[in-house]
Amino acid sequence: MTAKKTAEEDLKRKEKNLQVKHKELAQRERDLVEFQNSLKDLHRNLCPVCGHGLQLIAAENLEVLACEDCRGAWVDRASMEILIKYTIDRRKNFFTKVFGLS
Ligand SMILES: [Zn+2]
Repeated sequence: MTAKKTAEEDLKRKEKNLQVKHKELAQRERDLVEFQNSLKDLHRNLCPVCGHGLQLIAAENLEVLACEDCRGAWVDRASMEILIKYTIDRRKNFFTKVFGLS
């Protein structure tokens, strides 16, 4: 066996090992995503403070997850933006009524 042939076989073996490691790494990444999703499912709709179940309360384009045990409430970004706008509008209305400002 020539030195060149041995080097080629060694290179092929290294490439094969790299392919195997790449496949193992890809599988580990899929396993990690699956594990993270199972953790999310495990904690979904549970209060992050006390662990009791959360109730979805929907009203006027708002959705709030509320805990009846510790009275905590969680909103998504869209609902939070609606709440902020509502608060700002109410303040504007208040100052307009009281001070005639707009
Ligand atoms: Zn709670």
